[in-house]
Amino acid sequence: EQEAQHFINCIGSTPGFPKEGIIFRDFMPVLADAQALQTLMRGLEEALPVPADEFDVIAGLESRGFLIGVPLALRLGKGFVAIRKAGKLPPPTLSASYELEYGTATIEIEQQAITPGSRVLVVDDLIATGGTAQAAQQLIEASGASVAGFSFVMELTGIDIPDTIKQSHYSSLVTMP
Ligand code: IMP
Repeated sequence: EQEAQHFINCIGSTPGFPKEGIIFRDFMPVLADAQALQTLMRGLEEALPVPADEFDVIAGLESRGFLIGVPLALRLGKGFVAIRKAGKLPPPTLSASYELEYGTATIEIEQQAITPGSRVLVVDDLIATGGTAQAAQQLIEASGASVAGFSFVMELTGIDIPDTIKQSHYSSLVTMP
């Protein structure tokens, strides 16, 4: 309907950023728009990949995952933990590396951040190859916890998501090329 269309219209698209051949999808203008922001948060809550009583805590991926993870946690009465790029969190940390097109990236979580045995909902703005989400799952499992599901705002078409994610509970609000 109109509200959903307004939300989608707020998503920015920049061809050629951060490099040639890539269209950068930008959800920051959604946050800037009072109505679209409401639609976003309501949408994430309604499209949860698993019912809220099937996870204990939300993990957000740096940095746009923080912007939706905390307000979603507040709405659902959950806590929030941050998964960050390497070198930002105080030790002791757990880390996981994953392949990028050129080179590797490393993300980290504080070793004590997640209670062992807890069920975690992973949130981020966008899933492309799923490499980041998969590394986040490794960190959560290394913490002795489990991933209950993945929640994304945007999903890119034409990219193969890893089986580990495809076979788990995941949802996205918008699919775009
Ligand atoms: P993946 O690991 O290939 O799935 O890439 C997902 C990660 O890269 C997420 O943390 C996204 O925030 C970021 N990302 C990749 N492409 C875009 C984009 O077009 N817009 C915003 N973030 C992106």
